[in-house]
Amino acid sequence: MLPSNHHRSHPEAAKSKLRPECGELDQLTILKLGGSAITDKARECTPDIPAIQRIADQLRAYDLPLILIHGGGSYAHPFVTRSSIDRGLRDRSQLRSVAETEFYLSQLTRIIYASLLLRNKLPVPFHPMSFVTFDEGKVKRVLLDPIRKALQAGLLPLLHGDLVFDESQGIGVLSGDLLASLIGLRLGASRVLLGCDVDGVYSENPKTFPNATLIPEVTSENFHLVLDASRGPSGDATGGMGEKVRQALRLAKNGCECYIFNLREKYALARLLERDKIKGTRFVPWTNSRKSSRRSRRQA
Ligand code: ADP
Repeated sequence: MLPSNHHRSHPEAAKSKLRPECGELDQLTILKLGGSAITDKARECTPDIPAIQRIADQLRAYDLPLILIHGGGSYAHPFVTRSSIDRGLRDRSQLRSVAETEFYLSQLTRIIYASLLLRNKLPVPFHPMSFVTFDEGKVKRVLLDPIRKALQAGLLPLLHGDLVFDESQGIGVLSGDLLASLIGLRLGASRVLLGCDVDGVYSENPKTFPNATLIPEVTSENFHLVLDASRGPSGDATGGMGEKVRQALRLAKNGCECYIFNLREKYALARLLERDKIKGTRFVPWTNSRKSSRRSRRQA
């Protein structure tokens, strides 16, 4: 059974503890839990329960505003690529895959949800299909008010990469990485942390090139290095490391610090949240970009 909240206080007292309308969200962190780190990508709909529990353990003591986004991993990619819905809706037979993908994604959400509740965290789920639309594969509309309200109340919004409706193509894929940068910029997050199953961006894919070297820091001077390194084909419906790098650069250009790091590495997440040094790739905010970040928040 899930534990009850033993610290429930008088409604008036609770009200005064609600986060204020503005100000505190300046310390907002967005954390993406990559599908490669929380599922077995080689086996359909297979969660990595110990990995999810270790992540939830590391979040237990963290008390600043946080939004969690999980990737689909083996709960989404197989259905999306098999039915080609990532290239739009062309045939009624694809609708079954849309319904199934939504069903399996929500199963993964519930596993993470339960792990967090068991540790007295207070997540609330938001499904991007119901608050984001696309047109021609690009974000058209986003409604973030409910997520903002949840944060202000002290809850932990739990989102995921998702299928979304596209005005011209029927359906599109909103990757967890794009969602992280989109809401990171719109809500003015101070940091976006993209966790996956490798230590960061390497000179080449470290799984196929064991001698590849880690790129620890990306700035406005050397950013072409990570773009070149992650350009290879991903075989993944959401663009693999290339998409992660593009979104991390978009954030850094707009003044938001971003990390690509290994969620499977023991305590890496807890240390990163505590702002301790870890092995990973840090995308340094570009100089003079803070001043433009308010404008980009509106445009993002
Ligand atoms: P997630 O599902 O967690 O979002 P992906 O599987 O899409 O993550 O991307 C992570 C994978 O990207 C790694 O497992 C790695 O094999 C691959 N990859 C490709 N190129 C690189 C690179 N230059 N540096 C690091 N990883 C890379």
